[in-house]
Amino acid sequence: MPTPAKTYGQVCVMTDPGSRLPRIPDASTIYIEETGEGHARAVVRCPCGCGQRIELPLRPVNANDEADWSATIHDDGTVTIEPSIETTRGCGSHFSIERNVVRWYT
Ligand SMILES: [Zn+2]
Repeated sequence: MPTPAKTYGQVCVMTDPGSRLPRIPDASTIYIEETGEGHARAVVRCPCGCGQRIELPLRPVNANDEADWSATIHDDGTVTIEPSIETTRGCGSHFSIERNVVRWYT
């Protein structure tokens, strides 16, 4: 078993319309996509080490969308994603990300 990552090392905010979320995200990076159309997503690699890509629809600022998560980018550049994330396939991990730090639920 690979050692679970407990902290994401960096945040990549993508606001360029030409940039695309990675198909294979870096294991230590939280990707936040923000487009000008009220459409936003976050992508991370599962912190348990299983390698699966997790894509989260984020609640846009200006739309009553049904997205389930919100992402807060703090002054120090870290990210908090709320509420917690539970994978529905593979490892079944349940965790939250608060200021880049992974907290596990059992
Ligand atoms: Zn996993």
